[in-house]
Amino acid sequence: MLAIDDLTVRYRTAAGEIEALSSVSLTVAKGSTLALVGESGSGKSTVALAAMGLLPPEARLPAGRILFDGQDILTMNAEERRRLRGSRIGLVFQDPFSVLNPSLRIGDQVGEGLIHHRGFTQERAFARAIELLDEVGIINPEAVAKAYPHELSGGMRQRALIAGALASEPELLILDEPTTALDVTIEAQILDLLESLRVRRGLTMLFISHNLGVVRRIADEVAVLYAGQIVEQGATEDVLQRPVHPYAKGLLAAIPRLGQKKGRLASIPGRLPDLRNPPTGCRFARRCPFATPDSEAPQVLRDIGARKVRCTQAEALRDIAWPVLGEDA
Ligand code: ATP
Ligand code: MG
Repeated sequence: MLAIDDLTVRYRTAAGEIEALSSVSLTVAKGSTLALVGESGSGKSTVALAAMGLLPPEARLPAGRILFDGQDILTMNAEERRRLRGSRIGLVFQDPFSVLNPSLRIGDQVGEGLIHHRGFTQERAFARAIELLDEVGIINPEAVAKAYPHELSGGMRQRALIAGALASEPELLILDEPTTALDVTIEAQILDLLESLRVRRGLTMLFISHNLGVVRRIADEVAVLYAGQIVEQGATEDVLQRPVHPYAKGLLAAIPRLGQKKGRLASIPGRLPDLRNPPTGCRFARRCPFATPDSEAPQVLRDIGARKVRCTQAEALRDIAWPVLGEDA
């Protein structure tokens, strides 16, 4: 359904050019869910925006193709892309508050796309919005359709946004951190909703998160992104049970536990490298507890069993866990 092939994206900034993605390849099979996981700045939203044909003008794409159902999104004109977004691809962002218009009723916003893309009257779009709100598990859809965003809880707003993304009956849903702003209980409910929608509607999903823990409930496959490169990819259960790449091990060790405050990957010390001038060797080496002189060499993504891993030491590291620091370390 979606095939991203050797995609490189650079952003022009006043301080120089940033390489946000370096030769990223991903495929999402029809009816399956791929999770894309990585910390802030790793390039996740850039993948989402590129797949929607929504990259800003300062983005440059020196290489790559993005095929949606066989058609290259990058060679389409603006109108063709707009039509694709209005029909076959739906997008859900992280923060519903920033996307929802505070002065419009929820029902009008959920049905908005139907007016623009399908020629619905406002009345018909509003009626359809009520059905969609019902479908995403909102208990009193008539009342919620007439409400304004500030009258809803965070979880309800996120459900409303999902309803809006479903209005165009998309085949592919791209979800960029749809549960990051929610607390753990509500997050679990939204993940259950997405899973049931996937089954009921036969949706294909690209699910983006910085939390490797949440993808267990929802994804068939997971790709771990670090500094614009895929470092590990494989079946979700495999990767979660036994991550091979040190960064994936670190992410797993950093999963917030129930009852714990949502942390931001506190157990991997250090920061992303400068993407204006990324290291030619392993991009994670400076933060990696297992780095050796070999890490200075360029790392390629290679097959290790059913998995893809970008680490020359992958075989040696297979059974070694991320070093767990003591509570007071
Ligand atoms: P987050 O978890 O914070 O949403 P992300 O993984 O989605 O992060 P991106 O938003 O894709 O990361 O950004 C990747 C890199 O590209 C970052 O270094 C970011 O600062 C940079 N970047 C993103 N958009 C732009 C832009 N419009 N102009 C310049 N740099 C950008
Ligand atoms: Mg992002």
